[in-house]
Parts: sequence; structure tokens; C-alpha cells
Amino acid sequence: MKVNHYMSSANPNIRLFVENDLSEEAGFLIDGHQGHYLMNVMRMKEGEVVALFNGRDGEWMARLEKTGKGRAEVRVLGQIEEQSPEPDLWYLFAPVKRARLDYMVEKATELGASLIWPVMTRRTNVDRVKEERLRTNAIEAAEQCGRLTVPEIRSPVKLERVLLDWPEDRLILFCDEAGGEGGQDIAPLGIAVKAAEEKTGLDKWAILIGPEGGFTPEERHMIRQHPQSVAVTLGPRILRADTAAVAALALWQCYAGDWQ
Ligand code: SAH
Repeated sequence: MKVNHYMSSANPNIRLFVENDLSEEAGFLIDGHQGHYLMNVMRMKEGEVVALFNGRDGEWMARLEKTGKGRAEVRVLGQIEEQSPEPDLWYLFAPVKRARLDYMVEKATELGASLIWPVMTRRTNVDRVKEERLRTNAIEAAEQCGRLTVPEIRSPVKLERVLLDWPEDRLILFCDEAGGEGGQDIAPLGIAVKAAEEKTGLDKWAILIGPEGGFTPEERHMIRQHPQSVAVTLGPRILRADTAAVAALALWQCYAGDWQ
């Protein structure tokens, strides 16, 4: 439900994710990098209004009541949008170097992934992932794209471990660039998703994308052997891992998510 009467006084460009509970009359301080952004970058003044969300309580308007150097006390006014269910889609990928990693987190957030999970594979050539940086990127992307949640960021785990501990209620959409080799089944994403949902009765998914160097043959075998894995092709050309992620997330949203 949208309640629009606060919208007129709001600066629609300013939308912040906060940890605080949001309800009418709630008041709290915004400082740190968000305070710096409001006061020094956007040069906001007392009495001006911003939109806030926290992933739980929907989206609210709040007024800047008292401002200081790089900080603002805000008072929550009213709700603009109720929290509503969002697609349950995990995005698992082999981490890459910085700029492309930032891009992948930003795009996965915009395309509605609910959880982002770096998975270490044999050919992953990054040994440390700055989780805090992934989270910051996810928050910024969520703020700008209008979603009401920030995807959960999981700590990196080895592929073998991920598959061993895999939850029973979730299917794995395995993007396999070597699909079809050796007569193994492979289907386009839309067809494979529908067929697997009908066969298993499950509708939660995780998209799994390999590293720039691809999965090793042993890894491909292990993923394909997993009872919940569904191999799909993203067409006849080999895509870079970031392109493959955007393509797979978009297709999934189109066939099974909230683009339908
Ligand atoms: N093995 C390749 C590169 C891998 S591309 C090589 O070095 O030549 C990186 C990842 O993107 C792959 O592991 C796969 O998950 C995904 N991908 C790329 N193109 C794809 C396609 N046409 N179909 C399915 N997945 C693809």
C-alpha cells in the first residue's frame, strides 16, 4: 500500500538504509558516512525530508530535526510503503578482483538477489574477500534502486562445503558454459526452471556462476551430481562471469521472479 501525502516534501533522491526500527514518531541520530552524505554532500537543512528503510518495516519519511557537523537527528513521520515479500533468490559466485566484484554485487542487488554468497573454487584467484565492502556496495545499490531490503552477504565458503551443506528446500541453477558436452542434458533457463519446479515442488533457487577460468571438470561433475542441481545454458557464447550473472538473474526474474 502506498501512502503518498509525504511525497511532495521529500527529496526523492535521498533514500537511506538504516538499522533502526521505523515507526511513527521514532527519532534517532544519523551520523558516520550517512551523516556526512546528508550534511556535506547533499547539503541538507533542518526541516527537509528523506526516505528511510530498514528491510523490516517498509519505507518511511523522516524529517531532519536537528543538524550538526556530519550528523542529523531525524524524526520519522509516516510510512510511504509497507514491507512486502520479495523473491527468494540466492546468488553464488566465484569472487573476482575488486572492480568487477563491486559490479557483481551492485547488479545482483539491483536484479533482486536476496542473498549474495562468494564461493571459493579451484580456479578462484582471489584469496580474501572484503565482506564489509560487499555489504556497503549492496546497501548503496539497494538505496538507489528502490528495493526495501538489502541482500544478506554470506562469508566465503569452499564449493565442496557449500554443496555438502546444501538446504533441502532449494534448487541450484547451475550456469554451465560447457553444457551439452558429452551428451549431458542442458536446457535454456526458462524451460529448465519451470520443469524443475514442477518435478520437485520446490520454488526457491540459487544461481551458481563459476570463476573467469570456469569450473574444473571435477567441480562440474560434483555440481551436476548434486540432486538439487539443474544445469542451464545461457546461450552459445561464453560470457564473462559478471555478464553471465546479469543474464541469469534477469532471466530468472523474468521466468520465476517478480518480472512476470
Ligand atoms: N571456462 C571459460 C570461462 C568461464 S565463464 C573459459 O575460461 O573459457 C564464467 C562462468 O560464467 C562460467 O563458469 C558459467 O558459470 C558462466 N557462463 C558463461 N557463459 C555461459 C553460458 N553460455 N552458459 C552458461 N553459463 C555460462
